Amino acid sequence: MIEDNKANDGGDQPMDAAYQSPNISIEEKSKSATTRQKEKLYVEEEDLSDVEEEDGFLQAFQVANFEYINEAERAGKRDFSCLANCVSFSCIKCGCETSPDFCSLAWDLPILFQVHWLVQDCDFCRKLAAFLIEFVKMLEKMEERFDAEAVINEFESLSRDAGTVQRETLRKILDENGGTEYLQRWGLNGRTDPDSFKNCVPIVSHCDLEPYIQRIEDGNSPCCLTGKPITTISLSSGTTQGKPKFVPFNDELMESTMQIYKTSFAYRNRQLAFEICVEIFTVVVMEYRIGNGKALQFIYSSKQFKTKGGLAAGTATTNVYRNAQFKKTMRAMQTPCCSPDEVIFGPDFHQSLYCHLLCGLIFRDDVQVVSSTFAHSIVHAFRTLEQVWEELVTDIREGTLSSRITVPLIRTAMSKLLVPNPELADTIYRKISGLSNWYGLIQELFPNTKYIYGIMTGSMEPYLKKMRHYAGELPLLSADYGASEGWIGANVNPKLTPEMATFAVLPNIGYFEFIPLREDLNHQGQEAKPLGLTDVKIGEEYEILITNFAGLYRYRLGDVVNVKGFHNSTPELQFICRRNLLLTINIDKNTEKDLQLAVEAAAELLAGEKLEVLDFTSRVDLSTDPGHYAVFWEISGDPQDELLQECCNCLDRSFVDAGYMSSRKVSAIGALELRIVRKGTFHKILDHYVGLGAAVSQFKTPRCVGPTNDTVLQILSVNAVRSYFSTAF
Ligand code: AMP
Repeated sequence: MIEDNKANDGGDQPMDAAYQSPNISIEEKSKSATTRQKEKLYVEEEDLSDVEEEDGFLQAFQVANFEYINEAERAGKRDFSCLANCVSFSCIKCGCETSPDFCSLAWDLPILFQVHWLVQDCDFCRKLAAFLIEFVKMLEKMEERFDAEAVINEFESLSRDAGTVQRETLRKILDENGGTEYLQRWGLNGRTDPDSFKNCVPIVSHCDLEPYIQRIEDGNSPCCLTGKPITTISLSSGTTQGKPKFVPFNDELMESTMQIYKTSFAYRNRQLAFEICVEIFTVVVMEYRIGNGKALQFIYSSKQFKTKGGLAAGTATTNVYRNAQFKKTMRAMQTPCCSPDEVIFGPDFHQSLYCHLLCGLIFRDDVQVVSSTFAHSIVHAFRTLEQVWEELVTDIREGTLSSRITVPLIRTAMSKLLVPNPELADTIYRKISGLSNWYGLIQELFPNTKYIYGIMTGSMEPYLKKMRHYAGELPLLSADYGASEGWIGANVNPKLTPEMATFAVLPNIGYFEFIPLREDLNHQGQEAKPLGLTDVKIGEEYEILITNFAGLYRYRLGDVVNVKGFHNSTPELQFICRRNLLLTINIDKNTEKDLQLAVEAAAELLAGEKLEVLDFTSRVDLSTDPGHYAVFWEISGDPQDELLQECCNCLDRSFVDAGYMSSRKVSAIGALELRIVRKGTFHKILDHYVGLGAAVSQFKTPRCVGPTNDTVLQILSVNAVRSYFSTAF
């Protein structure tokens, strides 16, 4: 359980407690929602056959005054957990009462319909029952398309015995791949137990596997890492090292990708269904159905090419989007992208972005989810909309496509969607003109959006403020945790804010180990021994190692995670930072997170002037003696020198790492430098990575630019327009 989840006021119960209700038997839990509906509810349907469904129903509903509505209002929120204290409901029409078990209710929506006031002899109650039956039928239809309950049950069962599942997963991986050149080399001799594996096979980084991957790319040795030949290669975003890394991609990786997507979707959807329930009782219901919606997805494919050996190569997201499984899963989850394939796979991401926005506006009433892989793409998209919205409105009004779109395939695909629609154009014009500083833009433009979805943790956190600004009241739901190399965990607690988001590890998609970071090095200067998945401790930080079905064995992903709790027996991880992303000169150690916090503190000073930091990065500058940190900011306006000098001092003071502060005090580290870069500089950095083959979907601004990343250093240096040195120490 996540500790922070308990941090509600007063007697509130954490939401998760509801799922563990002792009042609900295992058999009951394992029944399908449909069975339960039939058992508990449809028996009453015959009695209700005379009820007219719509007439007067809503009206009656609106005047009804259930005690729990008052309870919810008193608590000032629409959260079921606040209703746990509510002992009974009564209908003001007939006074019939009920005491539904909220724990059961929380376990699964259809249990709601057990409540006994449905059969009271009161017209209002009968009409309510008829409405609920309709509602259940709708849920049933949804289930046909996506069996969320089966997915949840599967994950619950896997996570209950994560230790055994891990051993079994390792056995399978080694059985399938034990004969490969790589594993043969380490003398496992057919053993598949964790101890032999750890004793024989070394911990490696990408560079150790590069010679093998190179041979796969060249077509010389497609089976040197995996039993089945590798036929596709993924490019990681490579934003940290300046060039993309190549890693194997295969069907198993595709399958685990879909498993992750489905798992978190099932939990998200249950949450949503849950909220629909609350809405029912607060009468907004009718418009709040999960129906045949669309997703405005800012997704882009990178350039694909053939390696020397003829293997298809592209970013991991491209490999996923191009796979037939992806579309099928998205359709099953009722969130197909509103843009045609030609837009997603277009060769120029600027044109694709413009068309994504245009498609979103054309289908504005259908859009139920706004998403991207990483949050950066969402912010980038709406910043672009600020620039091009009038052009978009013109396209919609006239039913023609801007001349900025030059790719013939995209033009043809878009022309099928465009018809002159002055009414829609007027609405969008009016909505945007009515906004104050673009606040609530997404909510206004896409009125049926339920939430905004994407990875918002780690290096994406700096974009949260802007996302919230664009989102207005809409919730931000943080997406899952993985990498081009393989997936790790799903967000099964969608209600947590992005800052608190955790990822429950799926124990069947790989074998995971965790290097404890607290003691970092032991007395002999050796790294601490990695722990197994179920041996990690809450509150501790670890570097994660992956062994999976795609040819990685004890592979350092390079990420640092913190264990926040357990979902059954599988850990829930919070992403902390990239391990190698350190600003360090001597004894100081500052991570990506430390930099982010320092930038946030200093950026507060700009807020008074209504200015913001659009993006930032940093480097260690050793061209001075002693060396110093240089932080690069792109900002939205042109503040006075005094203010920027203050920001610079604040940045310097905000690195509170003891090593840094003591070094600064004795001038063992030079004064921090704040460099302001021209507007558009970070765009150029993005363009540079896209030119290298990266997909915008996977783009992460490098928060610390290494000394060998010449091109990015060059872009920053050429575009720096003002510079300040801290006088804080
Ligand atoms: P890529 O190289 O593009 O495959 O990106 C993989 C990296 O992105 C991971 O190793 C993490 O550093 C980061 N990442 C992926 N998912 C998340 C997440 N949910 N939260 C924070 N960082 C993430």
